[in-house]
Amino acid sequence: MDNVNLCNCSDQNSRKRHHHGIICTTCNPALIEPLFVPEEIKAYRTWNFSVESGFIARGNGRIQSWNDFNSSPPPGVIAGDLHSASQPWQPPAICVYNNHIAPDPYCSCGYYSVKNFGVIGSHFSHDSTKEIVSRFSTNVIYTLQNKLSKKQQISFANLFFHSPLLKTLEIDNFKILSEVSLTGKVIECEKGYRSEKIQPRKFYLLVNFFDLNVLSEELGSYINKDPAEAINSTIVWIDFLNKYLKGIANNLGCDFELLVKVNKNNPIDSEIMSRAEYSRRTVNDSGYLSFEHDLYINQRLRGIADTVLISNKILKKQPFSDLEEITHFEKEYIKDLDPVQMHKYGIGKTFRTLPKTDINFSRILRQKRYHQGGALDNFQRYQEKILAFGILYLNLINNKNNYKEIINSDFSEIFGFRYKLFLDNYQSKESLDPQKWFPLLNHKKTDYQRLQEKG
Ligand SMILES: [Zn+2]
Ligand SMILES: [Zn+2]
Repeated sequence: MDNVNLCNCSDQNSRKRHHHGIICTTCNPALIEPLFVPEEIKAYRTWNFSVESGFIARGNGRIQSWNDFNSSPPPGVIAGDLHSASQPWQPPAICVYNNHIAPDPYCSCGYYSVKNFGVIGSHFSHDSTKEIVSRFSTNVIYTLQNKLSKKQQISFANLFFHSPLLKTLEIDNFKILSEVSLTGKVIECEKGYRSEKIQPRKFYLLVNFFDLNVLSEELGSYINKDPAEAINSTIVWIDFLNKYLKGIANNLGCDFELLVKVNKNNPIDSEIMSRAEYSRRTVNDSGYLSFEHDLYINQRLRGIADTVLISNKILKKQPFSDLEEITHFEKEYIKDLDPVQMHKYGIGKTFRTLPKTDINFSRILRQKRYHQGGALDNFQRYQEKILAFGILYLNLINNKNNYKEIINSDFSEIFGFRYKLFLDNYQSKESLDPQKWFPLLNHKKTDYQRLQEKG
């Protein structure tokens, strides 16, 4: 902390000043020269990630909270072309408050980052569990509980329980941690830095296994799933997130690692926290285990999950619904609504055609507005979006999969739903093209497009 200009004032903002690395003019009446750091510095920070549109630059908006400093580019960083729009760290920081080069020692401008890996329990938290759980609870759990009949609850809980793809689409926004290297002008702060330039080197997702597992248990409660089946559902989801985000990071030329905490709210091995061999193998002493490599995850938790798969095979259970389930649902949903119910659920019989980004489970079911000429096809577009996300996923994890192959093969195990019946009855509404639904995520030309071009 040699380069931090600590503020010794006793007023409310004193801590904030050196926290930000801002030179306090009361303590330091003489002008201090800006600090230039000659070599690259390694630090950590999060970025906002959207399943719809990837890493988002929100530099145009005002920075409102501590969390924004940690997850948004500084104000003034404007997403210009598609390239920088999907890579919000691209432009150098500028200052919108004053006419100087960012960062300035007397100002709060610049890209923020922190020195320590795996920060938890503060506004600069690196763990994404809270956001994922809160989004999923609002979008899925609440909607299931409050907007659907018993029969409808079962069919949707079944889809969500088995499909990591559907779950991921519904969490929408969360933060992704990155190891970054800082260059240009850098100012050291109490816990981190403010820098002119920043470049991610490696991405991480930090989650708590048993907090996510609560969501699987809640979905499972509608369809009589036991705790082992819930663990299987959670593992399948984290597997999906791991491969999906690795694909995104690899597209940006970076590595990715998914890290998992298993000691918090662990109902099956509550003593694990105190075990010495457990604390020795956590990443950077952060309390997080490597999802791909740690033995607790790969033997203990996967062991439970595998038992489920084996017993389902023996019992010849058919766990997956077809995506076409949503069409049946739609028909019944519309038919079943009498004016009293419509009033109760707050929905109109004539549906408004929603914009692409609003096509998700909760928004379809929550829309309240009557709209003249509104089409009754949001459910079908939802199905298209889900399958387009599947195609995107296969493109991200394996370039060889083309659209035709997806149509002709069976990826039910990966998607968590069958889709043959859906494709048999398929009439194009929007498109199955991932580029249509997820433009920023799909940098590579997909096979879907090539196929379309060939005719
Ligand atoms: Zn001071
Ligand atoms: Zn400034």
